[in-house]
This record gives sequence, C-alpha cells and structure tokens, in this order.
Amino acid sequence: MIVVMKSGSPEAEIARISSELTTWGLTPEKIVGQHKVVVGLVGDTADLDPLRIQELSPWIELVLRVEQPFKRVSREFRHGEASEVVVPTPNGPIHIGEKYPVAIVAGPCSVENEEMIIETARRVKAAGAHFLRGGAYKPRTSPYAFQGHGESALGLLAAAREATGLGIITEVMDAAELDIVAEVADVVQVGARNMHNFSLLKKVGAQEKPVLLKRGMSATIEEWLMAAEYILAAGNPNVIMCERGIRTFDRQYARNTLDLSVLPVLRSLTHLPIMIDPSHGTGRSEYVPAMAMAAIAAGTDSLMIEVHPNPAKALSDGPQSLTPDRFDSLVQELAVIGKAVGRWPQPAAVLA
Ligand code: PEP
Ligand code: MN
Repeated sequence: MIVVMKSGSPEAEIARISSELTTWGLTPEKIVGQHKVVVGLVGDTADLDPLRIQELSPWIELVLRVEQPFKRVSREFRHGEASEVVVPTPNGPIHIGEKYPVAIVAGPCSVENEEMIIETARRVKAAGAHFLRGGAYKPRTSPYAFQGHGESALGLLAAAREATGLGIITEVMDAAELDIVAEVADVVQVGARNMHNFSLLKKVGAQEKPVLLKRGMSATIEEWLMAAEYILAAGNPNVIMCERGIRTFDRQYARNTLDLSVLPVLRSLTHLPIMIDPSHGTGRSEYVPAMAMAAIAAGTDSLMIEVHPNPAKALSDGPQSLTPDRFDSLVQELAVIGKAVGRWPQPAAVLA
C-alpha cells in the first residue's frame, strides 16, 4: 500500500503517521519524489481498509493498494516516478535512469591478464564507455572451462580503474566472496544463473554497492522483479535490471532470444533502471550492433557490451565480443540514435 502525502506536508506529520503505522505492524518507507512524498507500506495489508489510514491525517492525499506481488520495486510504490542509480566513480558520478543519457558498460567477459584489461579499459574509455566490465569469478557451464582468475583478477580491475577512472562492474558468484568483490566493484553483478539464488540476493541487498541483476535465462518478468524485490527488501534500493536474453526454442543462429519487449514492460511495472546486454543476448558479435541500436531506440537506460582486444583468443565469450575498433565505431553509430531519442550526453559547451 502507499500513502501519498499532499504537497507541503510537514515533516513532523509524516513522521507521526509513520510511527503510528509502525504500531499497526507495518513497515513504512518514506520516498521523497520530485513532486510528492510517498510513504510505502510493506506488511500484511490485505485486510486493511485504506480509509482507516486516510483518517490518520488531513495531509494524506490518497491511499492506494499496490496490487502487484512485487511491492518496493513496483512503479506504483513510487507513485509512478522513476528511480535512478547514482554510481560514484573516479571520473565523477554516473547516473543510470530514464532521465539520463544512456550509460555504457564495456569490457571483456573475463579478466585474463593485466595488459589486456588495462588496454581494453583504455580503449573503451576513449570510445565513450562509463564502466569497465570483466569477470573475476566466472559461472561456466563446464567445470573444465576457464573459471576466472578470482581474487587476483579483482586486483587487476582495481588497477584498471586507477588507470582510467572508469567504474567497475564485476560478478559475485558466491556469498563467501561478496566482501572482496564489493571492495573493488562499483556495481556488483548478480548473473543470470544466480538470479534465483535467494540467499545471495539477500546478501547483496544487505551491502551498500549498487546491484546489477541479470535476468535468469528462463525467468519470467515477474520472477525477475521478485528477485529484485529481495534486494530492496534487504535494504539496498540501488538495483539495475539487466536483460541478457532468454532461452527459447531456437538456438540455432543466436545463443539466446534478446527480449527487448522488457523495455516498455518493465518501464510500466517498475521504477528501477534498465540495462540491455546484446552480447549475451545474441551470442554473436555481428548481431550486437543492431540490437544495441534497437535497445537505445526502445528506451534503454544503459547497455552492456563485451569487448576483447583479440576475440579469437578470448578465454570466454570470444564469439560475442567486439574488437575495440568495432566498439569505437559502434558508439558513434549509437550516438546518432541516442541523440534522436534525447538520451545522449550534450557535447560540452565550447568556451569562447
Ligand atoms: C557475463 O556477464 O559475462 C555473464 C556470465 O552473464 P550472464 O550471467 O548474463 O550469462
Ligand atoms: Mn560473458
């Protein structure tokens, strides 16, 4: 349920209503929007008459029931307003959300060695990326495939940030490694295979770094939103929803089916920012540019693109990785679409 306060409601009144509702066994959460203050209520509200809440104060504009099973992540919970995730990076804060330019995440699937990660970081930064991605812990289908360099790769990601100022996004696979991953990561990634790992979701929800939540490969949109709800319920409001393709009946020509329909669907259901990953979504580097452009045209808030200095030699996901040169030209192509939909940074004003 949400309680929408009238404009100009006194703080003391909001606090009084909140503490009264706490005595009813509910957990009130104050959300300060651009125009209104909303108090979100989580708890057993099924039998609660909204009128009883309305009577608490003349400052209450209206009381609405959130009908969806997901509450905190629902768009209704913020009375229709989008949220944003602000990530501090050495190059300055990056805002990810529907009112901001498209944020670009690029880098290799895995961190392989110091030279390749630093070189890739420099190249993707020069092309216009805001974040460097790279796996230290890799979820691989085969136990005999490269599993990532683990902790030492985290050190290399820290060095790449030092060298470029880019924010770092890297995956946590196991709660046992969460502390060391969160120490280096500016955004902690929960991969598709862990989207249903509820104990990991609770743990990333109980730490402070923003979380990139990839869609499980067979997850419905509701299951994915419920996974995000776990993170918010545990206390972390900074979640980005990342579509990375789902399993469908046809895997012959593309690794996955990139579900771009999530853009309008999630937009209507949740206030959380959205990222599209056309690399895992298609599994083929030649299909990545078209889907990246489509994602921007359809309103994505951010993109994740795998880039490798030598895709043919990559230890993981080479076939879907762009070369730095191709990434560079792609960003220029994306700029055309980004500008057309008003989601591209304005060129810095030329000073006379
Ligand atoms: C990745 O980002 O390299 C990755 C393993 O992604 P996903 O969890 O979407 O497969
Ligand atoms: Mn990958």
